[in-house]
Amino acid sequence: MVSRVIPVEPFDLVIFGGTGDLARRKILPGLYRRFVAGQMPKEARIIGAARSDLDTAGYRKMIHEAIHEFIAEKDRDETLVQEFCKGLEYVTIDAMGEGGWKEMAALIRQDVIGAFYFSVAPSLFGALAERLHLHGISNDTSRIVVEKPFGRDLETARELNAVLAEHFEESQIYRIDHYLGKETVQNLMAVRFANVLFEPLWNAQYIDHIQITAAETVGVGGRGGYYDKSGAMRDMVQNHLMQLLCLTAMEPPSKFEPNAVRDEKLKVIRSLEPVEPHHIVRGQYDAHEGEPSYREDAGDLKSRTDSFVAMKCHVANWRWAGVPFYLRTGKKLADRASEIVVVFKEPPHHVFDADGKVHRNVLSIKLQPNEGMNLSVTIKEPGPGGMRLMDVPLDMSFAETLGDNADAVPEAYERLIMDVIRGNQTLFMRGDEVEAAWSWVDPIIQGWEARNDVPKTYDVGSQGPTDAETMMRRDGREWMDIKA
Ligand code: NAP
Repeated sequence: MVSRVIPVEPFDLVIFGGTGDLARRKILPGLYRRFVAGQMPKEARIIGAARSDLDTAGYRKMIHEAIHEFIAEKDRDETLVQEFCKGLEYVTIDAMGEGGWKEMAALIRQDVIGAFYFSVAPSLFGALAERLHLHGISNDTSRIVVEKPFGRDLETARELNAVLAEHFEESQIYRIDHYLGKETVQNLMAVRFANVLFEPLWNAQYIDHIQITAAETVGVGGRGGYYDKSGAMRDMVQNHLMQLLCLTAMEPPSKFEPNAVRDEKLKVIRSLEPVEPHHIVRGQYDAHEGEPSYREDAGDLKSRTDSFVAMKCHVANWRWAGVPFYLRTGKKLADRASEIVVVFKEPPHHVFDADGKVHRNVLSIKLQPNEGMNLSVTIKEPGPGGMRLMDVPLDMSFAETLGDNADAVPEAYERLIMDVIRGNQTLFMRGDEVEAAWSWVDPIIQGWEARNDVPKTYDVGSQGPTDAETMMRRDGREWMDIKA
């Protein structure tokens, strides 16, 4: 299979926060991979910008080192790394001050696409938007890319939207959620809307329930202070998990185009019922074999912040009436595994003698660590001895299906940045979507605060608090094991 890479138009991409963790770990290595894939035109320029007093040579060296650190040797070609780095530029700039803005204005071309990636703390988004405008650097065709977190509640999200809207149209704002850049997430839409097999079954008549899990093995480690003000609900559920829920539950859009898709996602969020307190389990990891507890990591032994959330929600519309969506996310769990699991109902009538086992079709869409899909079907157990049933997987892992070309599948960040240059907002969150998501999440968090809710503890390396299992069992169901 030959992968098709269409070069994008010439652009100037400025990465504010170009010396930061995200820029060094994801954004610039991702751009290097697109450079190697041949997607970047010769005229494209990438400009790092931050307060650090570096010259261009110093910045190139920094990114050269980052590529060595974050891209495996087998995927690196030293000549190409050097060529890529030679194209980088750097401007020392202060988002909150005046230093560096004239230099930036002189550097940015007005006749090519201008993209400005705000890979800095959200408190700087407004200042950057304003200065880009004031110094005549941005124009009507420029795009800005903003990182998460997009607010910490409805009020702050509204404020951020308003600040950005002072200088940029909604069509110029790209709110990034890297989960949406994953190949499998787009494949979920292809599977649903490009096949006749699934869509007729994709409703309350045939689906028993859906599980969406994003499990991590890491704790909050060094960023405990930041995380403690946020927690799993704000850090993961409000954005990543809700986006996955939307793509799973939405109606077919009339076209695969940005606003058609985002309109359908918004309708899902607006159809979500408020969640009953007994349908949510919050957790915090405990100390384990010399490893610190969440509270120790957070530096607050009385912290009530959630490092785990499991919840049951309902999309109150015709398609999904009575079908629970179970969401689960947490840190320091048994494995690093993110997946969407669609559990179909049992056939309406049992033709074969009951063997005491429940046989159901299960479609699992794996996002992490290896992207792929798996459909389990029930067949006859081979051999003599009567009609015994067994469930077997119809497996489609991208690495196997695409063979050597699996490496050509872009990672989430690189795909999304190329979408920015192409001007395609389909995989980015619209302002109203983000606000609607906060409107649903806010009352849940306010309820915890009002009740002084204390999270349940769970063992490091476990499946989460036992209450999460109990919540499922009450419904006569089980969570899928958290395993890669
Ligand atoms: P970071 O490592 O702290 O980097 C922050 C960057 O901002 C640095 O390059 C810093 O450089 C620059 N900066 C700080 N103040 C500035 C100012 N006044 N003017 C200009 N530049 C300034 O943070 P990060 O982890 O890269 O995260 C960046 C953004 O991405 C945040 O919004 C974060 O929430 C989001 N995010 C990060 C990750 C991740 O994995 N790291 C994941 C998802 C989202 P100087 O100090 O030299 O100015």
